[in-house]
Amino acid sequence: MSGDAGRARLGLRGAISSVGDIPRCRSKDPVAARTLAGSAHAAGQNAPALSSSRFARLTTLHSEASAVRNASHPLLACGAVGATLLAFIVLGHDGRRIAQLALLAAPMVLWLAWPLRSARLRRLRAALVWLWVMGFALDGVARAYLLDTYQAAPDGAMVLGAAANTNARESTEYLRMHWRSAVVWSAALAGAAVLAGMFVRRGAAAVSASAAPGVRQRLPFWPRSLVLMVLLLACLAYASKPWRRLHPALFWSQWSHSVQALRAAWADQQQVRDRMMAQAKAIAPVPLEAGPSTVVLVITDSINRDNMALYGYGRPTTPRLLAHKAQAGDQMAVLRHAWSADASTLPALRNLFHFGLPHTENGEHPPHLLALARAAGYKVWWISNHDDLAIEQQHARFANVVDMVNRTPGRASASLDGEILDCVQEALQDAGTDRKLIVVHLMGAHPHYSLRFPENANPFDDDVDAVETGLVKDGRSAWVRRFRQEYDAALLYHDFVVSELLQQTRSAGKPHDYRAWIYLSDHGQEVGHGSDRAGHSPSTASGYRIPAVIWRNRQPLPDGAAQQQPFRADWAAWTLMDLLKIQWRGQVPERNVLDPAYRWQPPKIPVAVESFSR
Ligand SMILES: [Zn+2]
Repeated sequence: MSGDAGRARLGLRGAISSVGDIPRCRSKDPVAARTLAGSAHAAGQNAPALSSSRFARLTTLHSEASAVRNASHPLLACGAVGATLLAFIVLGHDGRRIAQLALLAAPMVLWLAWPLRSARLRRLRAALVWLWVMGFALDGVARAYLLDTYQAAPDGAMVLGAAANTNARESTEYLRMHWRSAVVWSAALAGAAVLAGMFVRRGAAAVSASAAPGVRQRLPFWPRSLVLMVLLLACLAYASKPWRRLHPALFWSQWSHSVQALRAAWADQQQVRDRMMAQAKAIAPVPLEAGPSTVVLVITDSINRDNMALYGYGRPTTPRLLAHKAQAGDQMAVLRHAWSADASTLPALRNLFHFGLPHTENGEHPPHLLALARAAGYKVWWISNHDDLAIEQQHARFANVVDMVNRTPGRASASLDGEILDCVQEALQDAGTDRKLIVVHLMGAHPHYSLRFPENANPFDDDVDAVETGLVKDGRSAWVRRFRQEYDAALLYHDFVVSELLQQTRSAGKPHDYRAWIYLSDHGQEVGHGSDRAGHSPSTASGYRIPAVIWRNRQPLPDGAAQQQPFRADWAAWTLMDLLKIQWRGQVPERNVLDPAYRWQPPKIPVAVESFSR
């Protein structure tokens, strides 16, 4: 560009010295310029005193045309860069926001129309405008992705919580699962980068006024007024704080502050836990019975009951649980219609341990199940295959013994849930206490599914069965069908782990010691059930459909009819207090699925559910 401009300037000087009285160039059109040069040629012929060679005239002609072309580029550059920007703004925002973002973006784009003399400044401008465009493009892509995948804004609680709670391993697994969308969005970004790169360099170059009186540098009246008006509006946009905060640079730096603040708030919740322990002691829960009591709570992740043979699924994903069921009779209840009230882990566990109750009016937490259990004399274990800061601080640290199996560095297979079985066995054999609550937190079938079962342990990927045919009929894409095979293989391995946990509990201690076991998932998972997607799913019922199974060795469980009643995971703590045989004044029998007084109320979830009894 700078070369062109330089040539133009030199050439114009030559034209003036050699040609003399040339009509002023008012046209941006190269054709007009050529005509003009023609007349210059004629003028040269009519001026015998001047030393005008044909060569000089040709130089003149060429350079004048390129000077004129130069003057026409800025508008094209503004248009192309502006259109690219707008496309990405529309991608990530809607309604009034689009106009607001467009105004915030406008000044740098219009800068391209401002003639700059120095080539270095023009290069700097090109670089800055390019960065500007890419900032808006990244913003648009990030927002569009979150909206498309989770119907969530980046500053919503779910996304902030997930971002603050994610470690490097989880991020890698996430990318391995979602690389397809990553490729698509990266391609869009690369397109923007190339397009913007091509046009930002075509910004206006100034031609010295004395040297180039013939080249028009100013925009005509109407475009100029329009530019001024847009700039004025942009000033207003920047003056207003709520508008200004939408600017990608401000928004995302604020976002990263929020994520760090959240992480810092989680980093030490000892004081909060101390307060909640004191609260639990004040409630003074008491054991209903003397004697040994062992309760095992198995919380798994991302298990959709629709994929369990135990719930009637077409693939044999739960042979061991089915065997337990056949053997245990009325000691084991499979709650047919279990639902989570949340589609992601953090809110689901928050609800589970806090009885699904909201914060109190003065901002205090409702009682915590583990604090109550300890206040009632239970020794609590937290044995987890997750490595998760928020869950550790908000729940796990209430336990007397915290065992984060997955945190051991350098153990490649550590992420398989089977790794926790030894720890659970150890806890069950602990002779130091009579009353035990053992919480087991599994990875279950959390994405990436292929990492949730041992290598070469996928029996569902070789032949075409009814499930596969059904998915094809529903128009599910090949990769979603493959995810379904992996998901089901993860469930088969999960069946092994969960059955082992049940077996351990069934055979622990003396035969007549009281033991209970409850198993449920934090939330469900969409794997081509209701849409052509795989992953956490706040927007489809699959995101909330979970399994829930209860076993206890004394007192038969409610019969078939009672097991048909819908169950919700955010009320599970009411049932757990029953299993723990703890008496406290807060108990609400209407929310305890084991109580004859149980009354189902549908949870408020952002999905239209036809029937909770299906
Ligand atoms: Zn989860």
